[in-house]
Amino acid sequence: MQKKLKCPLTKKQIEEMISVAKKTREFAFSHRSMHKIWASVLTVDGEIFGWCNIESVISGLGTCAERCAVDNMVAHWMYDIVAVCTIDSGHTPTCGACLQYIMLFSQVSGQEVWLINWNTDWDYEIKTLSELLPEWYRTQSNLKAIRSYSKVKRK
Ligand SMILES: [Zn+2]
Repeated sequence: MQKKLKCPLTKKQIEEMISVAKKTREFAFSHRSMHKIWASVLTVDGEIFGWCNIESVISGLGTCAERCAVDNMVAHWMYDIVAVCTIDSGHTPTCGACLQYIMLFSQVSGQEVWLINWNTDWDYEIKTLSELLPEWYRTQSNLKAIRSYSKVKRK
């Protein structure tokens, strides 16, 4: 059985992630579902990047808020994720595609990623990526190349 980790995030960090995610709400492009979702990503450098969901009229071409927030982080040349915060009107969990996408970036630093699922009732859950995606697709073939993006010093 996997040992339960203690969440290293401070209340201030979580509040900042929520604040950044909320700032993206006006940009949500959710014309199909009208379901607006906002997300933010905390890096090991303490930077926070947010974005919202972008839907498409073609099924499968839209992008979840979580992946958009990660892409916004990458656009700023940062790759080490500590946490991802998602906000919507319910406890909609992060989808499998986003979990796998985030898992790739967890390999950059080799650290656990914390997922904060916040709803508009001012309630939230925090889980680890490993809890939500215990059997993730992994490859060892390009792990060295993936880790070369990390700013985290390894022994
Ligand atoms: Zn998703």
